[in-house]
Amino acid sequence: MTEALLTTPSERPPLRVRARRYGISFTRRATAIVTAAALLVASWPVHAQQGGPPLLRDAETEQLLRDYTRPILRAAGLEKQNIQVVIINDSTFNAFVADGRRIFVNYGALRESDTPNQIIGVLAHETGHLAGGHLSKLREQVSRAQTQLIIAMLLGLGAAVAGARAGAGNAGAAAVAAPQAAIMRTMLSYQRQQEENADKAAVKFLNATGQSARGMYETFKRFSEQSLYAAAGADPYNMSHPMPAERVRALEELAKSSSYWDKKDDPALQLRHDMMRAKVSGFMERADTVLRRYPPSNNSLPARYARAIAAYRHGDLRNAMAQIDALITVQPNNPYFHELKGQAFLEGGKPNEAIAPLRKAVQLSNNSPLIEMLLGQAYVASENKAYAEEAIKILRAALSREPEAALGYTQLAMAYGRKGDYAEADLASAQAAFLRGDQKTARDLASRAKTRFAIGTPGWVKADDIVNTKPIKN
Ligand SMILES: [Zn+2]
Repeated sequence: MTEALLTTPSERPPLRVRARRYGISFTRRATAIVTAAALLVASWPVHAQQGGPPLLRDAETEQLLRDYTRPILRAAGLEKQNIQVVIINDSTFNAFVADGRRIFVNYGALRESDTPNQIIGVLAHETGHLAGGHLSKLREQVSRAQTQLIIAMLLGLGAAVAGARAGAGNAGAAAVAAPQAAIMRTMLSYQRQQEENADKAAVKFLNATGQSARGMYETFKRFSEQSLYAAAGADPYNMSHPMPAERVRALEELAKSSSYWDKKDDPALQLRHDMMRAKVSGFMERADTVLRRYPPSNNSLPARYARAIAAYRHGDLRNAMAQIDALITVQPNNPYFHELKGQAFLEGGKPNEAIAPLRKAVQLSNNSPLIEMLLGQAYVASENKAYAEEAIKILRAALSREPEAALGYTQLAMAYGRKGDYAEADLASAQAAFLRGDQKTARDLASRAKTRFAIGTPGWVKADDIVNTKPIKN
């Protein structure tokens, strides 16, 4: 995941990976899925041009992030709010909350965090903003009206910053033109008191869960130091969370006063973290970058994981398969190794061979919906009519738990098409278009679906809803 990776309810795009290869791979690999948040892709010029999803979906990474945030959210009294962590397809370091329901984190922040504790600290700080009700009045207003727009603007700013730093002109700046820029400045910056309160809350949550605030301090100190240099404040994280030195000093004092200051992450959790970072690198970064980070001399499991992913994305399938099989030999019950194998077959044009490993991955992952969608995709791609029913069944099951996954509806439409059920196929295509934010196509397809269903049947009603939809439910 160069610019994309992992899970939750949204997606983002990669900058460096070839758009097509990436779009396909990542979308499938990470099973990129668009949620309501991603609806603005159409109005999101910079990322849209780069051709990738704005949000990244990946079962393994999302599970890890859930495991990171669950205890923190519980300590904050937010466990019932169903707050999700959404991974944004952006290589810069950033994390923010925009609407009280989601914590957004760039894949760049995941890749740049050496330990679980570092990223957990950042997530704890964002939780502090949520728990403290720090959404500004403006945020509240705008957010109630149009969550998607806010996210588009926030992401657009990140892209503008990244573009400026890369000397790529101001394509990104154009995306955040006039009135938006003013709104964003207001939205992005917390008041200093709010930052300090979020820090304090974060330390409290970390203490309550027996974790050190050291990682958070280390990360913030790094940003504070960076902000002293030329591009002061140019980093999106610095922009959204101003980090003056005195704030970092106060955090240091508070963090060091905890008896957990020296507590280290559990080695098993560190390994999962390292595997996640390796996966992000393998999917999102150029092959030479992956090899620089994980040279062949590095025989650790994460290094082998990163190289295996890079091999299938950039190299030949045979070589990749040998590497993936070797991983499976080490951890035969790791669902994500089987998922990778299936994905490599699927994207390598061998959908029939993808089916067995994906079935195994579904089983080992306890029916991860994202992996189920990949399996459904393999059934459809096999062009074997006998698999059509199977595909419909598993895609419906997955969509019942991931109702905002456009990719699932696209595959479902194809499965119905194979069966010759064009009413359901049109409806599923309409749902996919709707979730991608293409309202016109959604309405056109839904109108056609209505002519194919008997009036008043459940399919007709759903199609009718799309034809008459205003803004998406959020
Ligand atoms: Zn903050």
